[in-house]
Amino acid sequence: KAALYENLDEHTRITFKDVAGLDEAKAEVMEVVDFLKDPKKYTKLGGKLPKGVLLVGPPGTGKTLLAKAVAGEADVPFFSLSGSDFVEMFVGVGAARVRDLFKQAKEKAPCIIFIDEIDAVGRSRGKGAMMGANDERENTLNQLLVEMDGFATDKGVILMAATNRPDVLDSALLRPGRFDRQIMVDKPDLKGRIDIFTVHTKKLSLSPDVNLKALASQTPGFAGAEIANAANEAALLASRQNKLTIEMKDFEDAIERVIAGLEKRNKVIN
Ligand code: ATP
Repeated sequence: KAALYENLDEHTRITFKDVAGLDEAKAEVMEVVDFLKDPKKYTKLGGKLPKGVLLVGPPGTGKTLLAKAVAGEADVPFFSLSGSDFVEMFVGVGAARVRDLFKQAKEKAPCIIFIDEIDAVGRSRGKGAMMGANDERENTLNQLLVEMDGFATDKGVILMAATNRPDVLDSALLRPGRFDRQIMVDKPDLKGRIDIFTVHTKKLSLSPDVNLKALASQTPGFAGAEIANAANEAALLASRQNKLTIEMKDFEDAIERVIAGLEKRNKVIN
């Protein structure tokens, strides 16, 4: 798999209105959007912008979505890569791919480079698993650090990365001039869940009995991904029964299913 390059067009473009809740996180990344729209305005006076923004939070809370929305709002290309892609890689391939990614990105600047699950490649060096695999991971991480140091933000490339394990990251990644800015992307509160249900039911045919606030109260602990999943599942349940609209009962059944799925997953982990 080559580095994934997406130039999201009008139809697939994601913007802040697709990201529900997360008001603080949105406000924080707004600066990055402004910068990408007009890099010169920010560097004229000699100031330095952050090179890297680390999005920290549990799985499914919208980190990838937020990064894509930054690219969408600024209308710039979005390059992405997942740290887990590097896990089983032949010697030299990881570092080469990182080099290639930065080269491509610099050609398309201003743009965003997004690295999902950065902890998979960015765990602190010299600890953990067997030598072989670890060496290769370290090569990849070293290459990433080299690339981060080797470009000036005034070229308009901003790095964003996501993790749910900031504690295991190599401290070299968090130094000034690297990922020196962290933004929390937490699970939604009640209001956040109402907003996320609203976004994910906008295109669905809802029966008048559907009460999104009640659904939000029934889903404490759900991340955005689980809410999106429940909304889709409700639509499928209603379709299967040849209903013309999706009813409250369908949502409640769908929520049950999502909860059962989460419990199963937790059992496997524990
Ligand atoms: P992971 O750490 O598992 O990669 P993530 O934090 O990057 O997760 P996303 O991949 O952005 O999460 O979220 C998955 C999907 O869940 C999104 O594509 C979207 O449909 C939905 N979703 C998550 N959070 C939100 C949100 N705040 N607003 C709207 N939709 C959301």
